[in-house]
Amino acid sequence: MKKRKRKFESCMIFAGILFAAFTVLSRTDNAIIQEAGISAAKIIAGEGMQRLVREDQDRPQIALTFDDGPDEKYTEKLLDGLKERGIKASFFLLGKSIEGNEHIVKRMHREGHLIGNHTYNHVQLDKISETRAREEILKTNNRIYEITGEYPVYMRPPYGAWKKDTEFCVEMIPVFWTIDTLDWKTQNVQDVLQRARKNIKNGSVILMHDEYETTVEAALALVDEFTEQGWEFVTVDRLILP
Ligand SMILES: [Zn+2]
Repeated sequence: MKKRKRKFESCMIFAGILFAAFTVLSRTDNAIIQEAGISAAKIIAGEGMQRLVREDQDRPQIALTFDDGPDEKYTEKLLDGLKERGIKASFFLLGKSIEGNEHIVKRMHREGHLIGNHTYNHVQLDKISETRAREEILKTNNRIYEITGEYPVYMRPPYGAWKKDTEFCVEMIPVFWTIDTLDWKTQNVQDVLQRARKNIKNGSVILMHDEYETTVEAALALVDEFTEQGWEFVTVDRLILP
């Protein structure tokens, strides 16, 4: 009975988020919701949510997202570079990597980056039971909450595997990506930059992993190159809801 009630409550929370999103949508002139934005929205937020292109947006926006951290060796180097440039990014953390790196999570939060959930053990959520999936998500949320005082709202499911039929009863918004840099595979700065340059457009969500020196270098080079060209780097929530 108790479990059922909790499930109902979490559904209600998600319904609330959806309602808020649609309220914003219905108050907005449809003309500003560009066609390209809607298809990007489905990739970013899944079915049922739409990305808004703001009327007052004067610069094209992109989001840098980093999975699998925090990494004791490289994440702080990345944070140093982002701070120097005044750029905010989004970090989807692995619960198991937080231990011993709490100071890094605290710093991410203090410096205004978005902190999301990437499960505790890097599990493929559609291959395990719903109970285990919820445990993986909640355990990581709790670790992050203990450090930052805020529950994450956004979730990057490992391998992009998200079970559509259960998503409304997990209190998280899944965030996918539009550009996979394959940084972990090539570990080559130029290759990562080429992949990003080739595919970048307004609303792009770029996937990287902050556990390689080459990724830190490529991410900062990307920031310098695209800032210079007039692009704005934002946290990924800004590409989902205004
Ligand atoms: Zn991952």
